[in-house]
Amino acid sequence: LSVWSAVPAGPPDPILGVTEAWKADKDPRKINLGVGAYRDENGKPYVLNAVKKAEELLVQQNPDKEYLPITGLPEFTQAAAKLAYGEDSTPLKESSIAVAQSISGTGALRIGGAFLARFYPHSKTIYLPTPSWGNHTPVFRDSGLEVKNYRYFDKKTVGLDFEGLKEDLKNMPEKSIVLLHACAHNPTGVDPTPEQWKEISDIVKEKSLFPFFDMAYQGFASGSTSRDAFAVRHFVSEGHQIALSQSFAKNMGLYGERVGLFSLITANPEERARVDSQLKIVIRPMYSNPPLHGARIASTILRNQDLYGLWESEVKHMAGRIIDMRHRLRDNLVNLNTPGDWSHITRQIGMFSFTGLTTPQTKALAEKAHIYMTADGRISMAGLNASNIDYFSESVSKAVK
Ligand code: PMP
Repeated sequence: LSVWSAVPAGPPDPILGVTEAWKADKDPRKINLGVGAYRDENGKPYVLNAVKKAEELLVQQNPDKEYLPITGLPEFTQAAAKLAYGEDSTPLKESSIAVAQSISGTGALRIGGAFLARFYPHSKTIYLPTPSWGNHTPVFRDSGLEVKNYRYFDKKTVGLDFEGLKEDLKNMPEKSIVLLHACAHNPTGVDPTPEQWKEISDIVKEKSLFPFFDMAYQGFASGSTSRDAFAVRHFVSEGHQIALSQSFAKNMGLYGERVGLFSLITANPEERARVDSQLKIVIRPMYSNPPLHGARIASTILRNQDLYGLWESEVKHMAGRIIDMRHRLRDNLVNLNTPGDWSHITRQIGMFSFTGLTTPQTKALAEKAHIYMTADGRISMAGLNASNIDYFSESVSKAVK
């Protein structure tokens, strides 16, 4: 008998499992709208020109492959923090932000979860929006936190349930940890307005909640990295000691390079040094130190004026193509007399649209039309392009009728 004979088969990952099903489909019309990875006009993965140029510069510099420090490449961590907090950020200027390079956004969430589980003195419960990115619950549970939820999405309006959200924040035990999507909420594409963020910040302050921001899409929502950082910067300017997870997967297209940052606002440089020392103790037994190459690419782009400008224009282009696809999809559905109101498709922002398609409809689309998406009806807008948008719209229209 094998040692592993009692290991039960687990379910496929709800998001990555979609790609597996799509790969197995041999129909030439097949479309993968599952995973949130940008695709160009031809449906192909896109390596940013800013990334290619940064890599050329790196090859010329012929750098070594020595280990990075436990908390990563200092040029990268400083530049990434500046991108998030803004160069005028007071805690940044005062050197009171603790930073650690991470294995992309997921790794940043995991470092943060582990650090909070160990050191946050007031609560071991983190509240997630309903719904949230599917990996949030397992990440925080495996970090040692208890996971609970707050209302976020209103199925009736296909928009923000702002009243429900406020009520749930107000009813949380004081000093609870609350996870907030900084922009381009995944999976709904529904974000609070700047005015609503201000109200949320006020409630978080009243209840002394601890805000943990997940910023996986900075620049992807509006096309502007500073506009997308509004919530984070507002909270910091209001004096909240936030935790922040950043990912460079989407905005630099560095998915598999695994480039991210975890940061925490502390009171002063002396406290930051203590927090830094404990972040190292959290990270060292997990993976010792982070990977080099992606951090070098990102820091080259962030610190070189020409490459930064090129990168900004490419972020804008990616966000713009997605917005364009939203308009084409909505117009198509309306022109095909598809039952229902489809205005949410252009109201929503970021990588995804929460279409409102039901699980049986998503199943039917996979079986009959070879179109793959998550069972909650979320589609990755970047999977649509001029060649497949009409086929997709017609198939959705049929599935709804
Ligand atoms: N948070 C959210 C909300 C996400 O959508 C994602 C990516 N799908 C991540 C974090 C982390 O992704 P990564 O680890 O690839 O940076």
